[in-house]
Amino acid sequence: MSIQAEFYKSFANISQMEDVKSMPQIAFVGRSNAGKSSLLNMLTNRRGLAITSQKAGRTRLINFFEIKNEYYFVDLPGYGYSSASKGTTQGWGEAIAEYLVNSKHLRLVFILLDIRHDPSQLDVAMLHFLQSHSIPFRILATKCDKLSRAQSHNHRQKLASFLGLGIADIILTSAQNRQGRQDVFDILEQTLV
Ligand code: GDP
Repeated sequence: MSIQAEFYKSFANISQMEDVKSMPQIAFVGRSNAGKSSLLNMLTNRRGLAITSQKAGRTRLINFFEIKNEYYFVDLPGYGYSSASKGTTQGWGEAIAEYLVNSKHLRLVFILLDIRHDPSQLDVAMLHFLQSHSIPFRILATKCDKLSRAQSHNHRQKLASFLGLGIADIILTSAQNRQGRQDVFDILEQTLV
């Protein structure tokens, strides 16, 4: 099922977002290479939607995609590249922190984690940051096609206990075989009522 998705605009920081329409925002964060662009393309059924924005040199910017004229997907810059995070307090950049704390329309954050790897210190710091600011979030475990079903469920359980979360907080996804797509939209439906 295809959904209407259009690249809207890129922003360097929240002060540039004044003219953004008053629609709910769903943000996606994760380390560089976690699979964020691929997942956004899979969710929207728009091959190249997120990658197109990267090609235009927008990887360090906050990219907005308008979905079904109802809400925005907000693609936050991947963290973990030392050059991008040097000199900042949180390690993922002031612009991201400022956006997460101050965006009035932010409704949910998806933290992307590669199912095969233990979360990095930055991933854990991001989770704690969201918890400390009472920002609702879920974990999207990415690239689950790389593991067997049993392994994925095993890793999911480990991830949940490592992060102190419930199993339901962690959604298994794959951009390759589209696993988890319906789960994500079910969560969005609950979130956006
Ligand atoms: P980003 O830096 O977080 O935007 O990550 P990308 O979407 O660019 O993906 C990083 C790498 O992981 C690329 O080589 C992708 O092809 C690969 N990748 C992303 N998602 C999946 C997935 O669901 N399955 C598999 N097998 N590879 C994936």
